[in-house]
Amino acid sequence: MTNRDVLIIGAGAAGSTTAFHLAKAGHKVTLLEKDSGRLIKPCGGGMAAAVQDWFPFDLTPAVDQLIKVVDFSWCLSDQVVAQLPGNAPFWIVRRERLDELITNQAVNAGAELLRPFRVTELKKSTKNWQVTNEEGKQITAKAIVIADGSNSPWPKIHGLGPRNQHHAVTTSVRLEGNGNLKENTARFEFGLVHHGFAWAFPVKEGVNIGIGSFIGRNEINSEDVLNQLLPSLGFDPQAGKRQTASLRVWNGHHALHGDGIVAVGDAASLCDPFLAEGLRPALMSGCEAARCLNHWLRGDSHNLVDYTKIMRVRWGNSMAWGKRIAQVFYRFPKVGYQLGIKRPTAPQRIAQILSGEMGYGDIAQRVIKRLLLKGN
Ligand SMILES: Cc1cc2nc3c(=O)[nH]c(=O)nc-3n(C[C@H](O)[C@H](O)[C@H](O)COP(=O)(O)OP(=O)(O)OC[C@H]3O[C@@H](n4cnc5c(N)ncnc54)[C@H](O)[C@@H]3O)c2cc1C
Repeated sequence: MTNRDVLIIGAGAAGSTTAFHLAKAGHKVTLLEKDSGRLIKPCGGGMAAAVQDWFPFDLTPAVDQLIKVVDFSWCLSDQVVAQLPGNAPFWIVRRERLDELITNQAVNAGAELLRPFRVTELKKSTKNWQVTNEEGKQITAKAIVIADGSNSPWPKIHGLGPRNQHHAVTTSVRLEGNGNLKENTARFEFGLVHHGFAWAFPVKEGVNIGIGSFIGRNEINSEDVLNQLLPSLGFDPQAGKRQTASLRVWNGHHALHGDGIVAVGDAASLCDPFLAEGLRPALMSGCEAARCLNHWLRGDSHNLVDYTKIMRVRWGNSMAWGKRIAQVFYRFPKVGYQLGIKRPTAPQRIAQILSGEMGYGDIAQRVIKRLLLKGN
């Protein structure tokens, strides 16, 4: 018999959120993290302030900037600058601080944190789940949460998420100093990046640059892009350390649960396939997984199917449209930029998408309606 209720693999945004909510509900939770300390994660840190509603503690210590203006360009020209509507605020968080903040709250709520602890094996015995780390240490629990990000092998092995996983290819650079990027302004560049876009988000005394390629064979011309983008932002083209990362993006509706097991965040392939938004679904899935596991552990439900169902409604249905939009937009980006981004309502729509106020399905329906009206 094990005395642990839940083992969570990975103390990132998704894992720490699950740990906090489960510990707060009174369960015995152990969070397993391979890294011993704070590392700079390849993440722009853009996140809707609306996620604050999912936590009973203040997230603002992790926030570096509030974005008020968005600045779009096509090949560094044909600029569109727009104020974001104040009703859907958008934060830039210092990513490593966000993970640390939620992890600390989980520990304060009673979760156990083991780090460094790199899980190398995960299996089910008759009743319990068992993980093993690289030193051969074994721990068991009634349930498992897979939260170890885009390179997690466990969802495929245990039949969760898409069999055919799709990855966006990304390069990121954290720069010191703000260059000529204005305070409270987020920059988006379409046109320079093959099958994707580049972004520059201001953080305290620095800038997070990211480049993502979302469809096709995932080749990324990041050095060419940086050679043009960095000088346009007032930086040396060689400035900053490059980090490349493969980001597992949403690729169809699939079960995210099994017998006493769920996948959350990037491990569950939840990241937005159009805009690379992965923090909100990581936090959302962490909250929902904790809610369903709480019912299951208390014997109020016999399985974890509700987790898959609710994530489909709250996230998957919109991502199905996001994927379709990405396929068209990144194949014909110049047309997409002219017809989509340059519309006067585009910044407001993007803000509404990123805050969860609107889904990609709503956007698609508006476009279809417009086309039908034009056809008549
Ligand atoms: C360049 C780039 C820019 C991005 N910008 C944004 C953005 O601006 N806004 C946004 O919303 N999203 C952004 N994203 C996406 C976002 O970063 C991810 O979706 C988010 O990190 C997902 O969180 P997670 O907790 O699922 O995974 P992760 O943050 O990857 O956490 C997984 C954790 O598991 C640990 N781990 C891994 N393997 C093991 C193991 N075997 N044993 C134990 N622990 C393990 C890792 O060390 C890590 O701490 C960006 C992604 C990239 C690559």
